[in-house]
Amino acid sequence: MKYIEEFQNPELARRLLDDIHTTATRPWALMEVCGGQTHSIIRHGIDQLLPEQVELIHGPGCPVCVTPLEVIDKALEIASRPGVIFCSFGDMLRVPGSGRDLFQVKSEGADVRVVYSPLDALRIAQQNPDRDVVFFGIGFETTAPPNAMTVYQARKLKIRNFSMLVSHVLVPPAIEAIMTSPDCRVQAFLAAGHVCSVMGISEYPPLADRFKVPIVVTGFEPLDILEGVRRAVRQLERGEHTVENAYPRAVRPEGNPAAQTMLQDVFEVTDRAWRGIGVIPHSGWKLSDRYRDYDAEHRFAVGAITTQEPAACRSGEVLQGLLKPHQCEAFGTTCTPRNPLGATMVSSEGACAAYYLYRRLGTPTSSTTAPRETTPVA
Ligand code: SF4
Repeated sequence: MKYIEEFQNPELARRLLDDIHTTATRPWALMEVCGGQTHSIIRHGIDQLLPEQVELIHGPGCPVCVTPLEVIDKALEIASRPGVIFCSFGDMLRVPGSGRDLFQVKSEGADVRVVYSPLDALRIAQQNPDRDVVFFGIGFETTAPPNAMTVYQARKLKIRNFSMLVSHVLVPPAIEAIMTSPDCRVQAFLAAGHVCSVMGISEYPPLADRFKVPIVVTGFEPLDILEGVRRAVRQLERGEHTVENAYPRAVRPEGNPAAQTMLQDVFEVTDRAWRGIGVIPHSGWKLSDRYRDYDAEHRFAVGAITTQEPAACRSGEVLQGLLKPHQCEAFGTTCTPRNPLGATMVSSEGACAAYYLYRRLGTPTSSTTAPRETTPVA
């Protein structure tokens, strides 16, 4: 299959690995930002093929994982209201809130529907004019354009029984938060290629300069990731810190201007809480005042709901690269994909789920259990 098999070629992978092994002379810690990259790394065993001194730290780039607990609780509250049709992508249904998840609410009689596009939810609103239809709009800069387009369409078509519960998050402020954390070990980033295909790469040179870190825009197939690692290690060995685009088949430097125009019209930047991490200033999008009537949080008056993260779940440390999933005491014992304690075990892109699916199912020994003394990012 073009663009997939050719980026899984074993002979080319071997050559890239040889190059990385030859280049790396010192210990380096690289963070892959995106959960899709984490999944690919663990699935293909890429981290195990790298030289011992090159460590991959799994970053906070899984949209389901970082959606804060209180937003899940708001979704559960809205979905439970009479007359509501609550629409979501399927992977959000099993993400635990404080007590329940959307599947449980659905089993109790709520009308919760899985959709494959926000426009499906808009269509449901048109077909059910006497019901309130809500779409759960979460994710990074990648999922934001279709969500923005849907709200834009709802307003244009005057579909007043549609609204969106928005919890979008942005990558560059998260990189800044990681780099300013006292516990930060990251020396280079593999930036998420799909995010850059929307937003371009202009936000990254100031970060690379300020924190003196190489940032390599990287794709998702094994050869993409190896090429990203190769370029990052080469820069680190040379003492360089520039932004490179190792995913040019999808990423143009300017990104997608049409999508950016739509985003600017519908959303505005806001402080956003990240699950397990805390509030990161200017790290999210909310609906702008122009689209306030389509904001489900406002329409259903659930803005006051606040929650506490469960103490047993260490996903905040996982999401900051301070802990490997199998080093969590609950991993594979009290926390499994069937009975997840935290979102990083629920989402198919979550680091804990990836470790569980592909290896390291054993209960960690005391020697592999990391200490808990860490400082939150924000
Ligand atoms: S294994 Fe479970 S409890 Fe531990 S950090 Fe991951 S999601 Fe949280």
